[in-house]
Amino acid sequence: MPHLGRRVGAITAALAMSVTSGAIMSPASAHKWDDEPEKKATATGYGGAVSTVDADASAAAITVLRKGGNAVDAAVAAAATLGVTEPYSAGIGGGGYFVYYDAKSGEVHTLDGRETAPAAVPNDAFIDPATGKPYNFSPELVTSGVSVGVPGTAATWERALKRWGSLSLGDALKPATEVADNGFTVDSTFNLQTEENRVRFSAFPSTSELYLPGGAAPAVGSVLKNPDLADTYRLLGDEGTDAFYKGPLAEEIAATVQQPPKTADTALPVPKGFMTTKDLAKYKVLNQDPTHVSYRGYDVYGMAPSSSGGTTVGEALNILAPFELPDLAATDRPAALHHYLEATALAFADRAKYVGDPKFVDVPTEALLDDVFGKERACKIDPLKAASKPVKAGDVENYDGTCDVAPAAASEGPDTENINTTNLTVSDKWGNVVEYTLTIEQTGGSGIVVPGRGFILNNELTDFSTVYDEADPNRIQPGKRPRSSMSPTIVLKDGDPFLALGSPGGSTIITTVLQTLINRIDFGMSVEEAVAAPRATQRNTASVIAEQAFIDQYGTDLKSQYGHTFTAAGTPGTSAAEIGAATAIEFHGDGRVTAVAEPERRGGGSAMVVKPAR
Ligand code: GLU
Repeated sequence: MPHLGRRVGAITAALAMSVTSGAIMSPASAHKWDDEPEKKATATGYGGAVSTVDADASAAAITVLRKGGNAVDAAVAAAATLGVTEPYSAGIGGGGYFVYYDAKSGEVHTLDGRETAPAAVPNDAFIDPATGKPYNFSPELVTSGVSVGVPGTAATWERALKRWGSLSLGDALKPATEVADNGFTVDSTFNLQTEENRVRFSAFPSTSELYLPGGAAPAVGSVLKNPDLADTYRLLGDEGTDAFYKGPLAEEIAATVQQPPKTADTALPVPKGFMTTKDLAKYKVLNQDPTHVSYRGYDVYGMAPSSSGGTTVGEALNILAPFELPDLAATDRPAALHHYLEATALAFADRAKYVGDPKFVDVPTEALLDDVFGKERACKIDPLKAASKPVKAGDVENYDGTCDVAPAAASEGPDTENINTTNLTVSDKWGNVVEYTLTIEQTGGSGIVVPGRGFILNNELTDFSTVYDEADPNRIQPGKRPRSSMSPTIVLKDGDPFLALGSPGGSTIITTVLQTLINRIDFGMSVEEAVAAPRATQRNTASVIAEQAFIDQYGTDLKSQYGHTFTAAGTPGTSAAEIGAATAIEFHGDGRVTAVAEPERRGGGSAMVVKPAR
């Protein structure tokens, strides 16, 4: 079976007619792997496993694992390959969160590789100095230098490899460098995402030369190369990430942010940003303790603030813990789903009120993850009726697990997090596990490729609240990390890995991870079923956003019995109609694992194992 790559879909490799790299077009075919894998959403076996949204990225990880690399080496190889094949979702122009289970110590560690706001960023960064009025979110803020945070991804890879890997950065980047040199086959998702970004990408010659060669999105079935990115990866491999955070590349990044290299004729305003070479030189990836809650005998570890993922998933589990969800799910699925939807609304109210970068605001992480607090929040769930939304935040200073405390007042800001990033799960033969979510925020990030370097800069600072308010934990501040929803999660049972999972999807990441967990733990689904099941997301809004299949299956009951109202996610037939694009690995306890990617969403993902049989 030839290796078709995730994007090829029904198009065969034989259709790969031309190589596209800037303006160069010549006949060729995409990068070939030693072991040409078949794209599958589920793979069961031994000796290590991987799940990503992309067959090239999964193949990179499997190649590393087969050659004796560990899960951390393979995760970096896969992430770097996603920077080539999924450049609109992730890459060294962005940031992310890396969660690692170390089999030897039995401990879970995390790295916070989130982007930071430049030191010179003012409180009114999101106000247009020309008018004194807030910039429009789109197009002004999303396609701008203002929203570019100091990238953390290269530093995350280097730190992860230094702490837990066995490969050098150069060796871990080799598979991705080969894909960038030799090209990958463009599929309909890539083509569509490029088309959707056409106006933004056209505004920057550095971007249009790479992604709009000849003025158009690369055709489905064509092969796209990125020699500039290959050179950048070689530079990082040779010199380490000092070559990114200091020296000529850092100067070019800062110059690109301060003076976005736009065309004279674009109608886009493209405000200038504040990043300097000092900001890059000062960037630090953070070693963080994971969040932890116990849920029905499982230990659930996640990402602590600056992400809201760990606290919000954890709090929602604590809210659900007092209810007999497994029994309810078996006899009355809509009743169980009603509890799920109400729990996330409550947890999102607390997220909005309390969670930001803990270096800048006092985040009550302990209280938010306290099962007594969760129990008290659970009092707010009426088992027979949906609460009117938004619900108010709880009082983290004053709780005792009983049902008589009045809720504190809370304000709800608009949700401006975008819905595109990427996630990967890797395990190895020693039992180590990596769950890693990385992003450049918007699909296509800021739209700005650093000239000659082959990667797009993020627009992550749009994850700050766009209206500055001293009471808001997520207000913009110099050096601060914007609040994230990324929720890479590792679940242990009796000290051993049981399940690792994560997803893209902006703030729906939290509900996707939570829903998948309860599908598996409470609803008795297999891990494949848990990932594939239709999704709904209640983030403390009047109407529940849900995939059409969820509405078709449960909408009538949830509406007539509990009063939930639904809005279909996106427009049917577009990628936005889907919530998330999860990856997961389940550990069966005997060395056997099941790696799972999406069977349908985003064109389906790619799960692989090192050995299908022992
Ligand atoms: N920027 C979002 C976050 O950090 C992720 C974007 C996405 O998932 O598409 O939560």
